[in-house]
Amino acid sequence: MLNRAEQAPVLIVGGGIGGLAVALALAQKGVRTQVIEQAGEFKEVGAGIQLGPNVFRMFDVLGLTEAVSALAVFPENLIMLDAITGEEVTRVPLDGRFRARFTHPYALIYRPDLLSVLLAACRNSNLIEFYTSQKVTAVEQHARGVTARSDEGYAYEGAALIGADGLWSTVRQLIVGDGKPQVAGHITYRAVLPTKEVPEHLRRWSMTFWAGEKVHLVLYPLRGGELYNLVAVFHSNRYEEGWDSFGDPAELHERFARTCEPVRTLLGKIESWRMWVLCDRPPIKNWSKGRMTLVGDAAHPMLQYLAQGACMAIEDAVCLANRVESARGDYARAFEAYQAARYLRTGRVQIMARVYGEFYHASGVARELRNMMLSARTAEQSFEAMEWLYGNDTGPTGYGRVFSGAKISAG
Ligand SMILES: Cc1cc2nc3c(=O)[nH]c(=O)nc-3n(C[C@H](O)[C@H](O)[C@H](O)COP(=O)(O)OP(=O)(O)OC[C@H]3O[C@@H](n4cnc5c(N)ncnc54)[C@H](O)[C@@H]3O)c2cc1C
Repeated sequence: MLNRAEQAPVLIVGGGIGGLAVALALAQKGVRTQVIEQAGEFKEVGAGIQLGPNVFRMFDVLGLTEAVSALAVFPENLIMLDAITGEEVTRVPLDGRFRARFTHPYALIYRPDLLSVLLAACRNSNLIEFYTSQKVTAVEQHARGVTARSDEGYAYEGAALIGADGLWSTVRQLIVGDGKPQVAGHITYRAVLPTKEVPEHLRRWSMTFWAGEKVHLVLYPLRGGELYNLVAVFHSNRYEEGWDSFGDPAELHERFARTCEPVRTLLGKIESWRMWVLCDRPPIKNWSKGRMTLVGDAAHPMLQYLAQGACMAIEDAVCLANRVESARGDYARAFEAYQAARYLRTGRVQIMARVYGEFYHASGVARELRNMMLSARTAEQSFEAMEWLYGNDTGPTGYGRVFSGAKISAG
């Protein structure tokens, strides 16, 4: 534990999952932070999120496992079906064998619930201060620290600064300066349905997805089975950028016209969809500059096909706090060490998320081959394919580098 409570705080720009996780991880090391959020309150979009076993290891460290588990659904399987024929392609059991292999579970949670767990833990710490309705527009670095300025005209002074401001990060432009994120040409529609509106034969205690030609649909339960989360994705070059706008259901139905009955039935149940234009960036290895660095989507935005963006942000948080502790207050050194520990892992997830996007949306021969390969897999072979992401790997792309150089402690 560092005795840093009397020093200038670390400024965290953005109070999403990444920003709150890093505030909490630093508080555990005795580091004071100020979280500066542009929105009027800390909130998450009303949709589901999947949590791999790798992020549960971080929850153990952050002391959040119990609170997250109380609100999460623990699905029985990951099930993939062909969206055209409706046939099951493969299922990965998430039972005792999965837990024995990866030591932690796979879970599904309502995003606002995850954020509320993080926020409650942060509020319990007297080392974290919160500022809302403050959009950071400028950041300066000087000999003794950093200054962040908001559009309201406020200046925040800190010893260092962490940009946790997401895909459209302002701080990234000041550190990396690589312009807008890359539009993937994939559009996502998200909705949450009360369970009574999901036909009984389609309710499963599993993460189910139908993979089609340039489309897929995901369905899973949330909040003890009160709700079902639906995510529909299709390829379209019609949109350039933007997010969280109301979608055009006519286009959605047209793109899914060739899919099987369950998929079309589910799409027909939704009256109000929200639309996202998916973006990512190619991986980079340097997202720090002196006393400034990035975490989460600001550092390594990725497509959602491995369901890992938030998990990576939380891994970043734990890793960064460990490096700050090891560097004993030398933030520039800590941030260098943190990105060196993270860029190959997060880069691999960014790249593989693109690959999986193509794989899930395959057509023709590629689709046939995909179905043939996956349906032949045993549970053990599926686990083996997930080892690099969920396993106890301490190699350059394994989660273990989150900890190296610092003691693993249960928060
Ligand atoms: C369709 C979809 C499904 C997904 N599914 C999963 C999944 O199953 N599992 C998973 O792990 N990940 C998933 N993700 C990814 C995950 O949502 C993101 O990676 C994660 O939310 C990133 O968190 P973040 O804190 O880095 O950024 P954000 O959540 O974007 O938070 C950034 C915060 O910074 C604030 N901010 C921005 N600019 C400023 C500024 N200038 N000043 C002050 N505040 C600012 C914002 O208001 C926001 O609160 C999915 C993403 C999508 C699009």
